Amino acid sequence: MNFRPRKDIGTIPWAPDRYGESVLGHSLEVWRPLERCKLIVHAGIHGEEGETTVALSRALRLLTEPSHHCAVVLAANPDGLVRGTRGNAHGVDLNRNFPTRDWLPDPVMHRSTLDAPRDVVLSPGSGPGSEPETRALVRLIEELAPAAVVALHAPLACIDDARQTPLAAWIAGKTGLPLVPDVGYATPGSLGTWGGEHGLTVVTYEFEMTDKDSVVRDHVPVLAELLAGVDPWS
Ligand SMILES: [Zn+2]
Repeated sequence: MNFRPRKDIGTIPWAPDRYGESVLGHSLEVWRPLERCKLIVHAGIHGEEGETTVALSRALRLLTEPSHHCAVVLAANPDGLVRGTRGNAHGVDLNRNFPTRDWLPDPVMHRSTLDAPRDVVLSPGSGPGSEPETRALVRLIEELAPAAVVALHAPLACIDDARQTPLAAWIAGKTGLPLVPDVGYATPGSLGTWGGEHGLTVVTYEFEMTDKDSVVRDHVPVLAELLAGVDPWS
């Protein structure tokens, strides 16, 4: 596979489209594919997981031309990334805010670190799909109608796909991360659940807990191969 020369990877050479606006007024940006969208890859829906944005951006910058079939969202929660919070500017965990049948109004209990108790309180929103970032991502998925969405997260170190699709198996094989049918706890209002209700494959790609350079070394090549048009999901 041909990649852009290293000297040229400092900037993203293509302009994104704006698919919405965050609570704080930041643009929600998508790099659209040249042809029919088969896959959306998004990062940064949890603002504390900035390594997902760094890795996906680096993969995008390696390409010698825009992706033919993958749409790329580098920051699904720009307010959280700017402020360093898991939730958006309303304190909402966006991955509990999707308009699913199982959406719950209960507080979202979150671990501050992987080995800490679940004692940090976030909100699932005032109702299903209450947040502009959630609604915009739903609209984008409905407009592009991909066969699958890959959602980047950290640091649970697994590839989670309720359907155990070939796409998820391909990512698991490339990364060595275990392929699992769920993350081991209930996630009402998650994108994965919303996808399941709409016949959409959602693969949750959870990086391991590691340093940024290791993420770049281990995950950027896999992401670049996905964006460049390897077609493991067909
Ligand atoms: Zn996450």
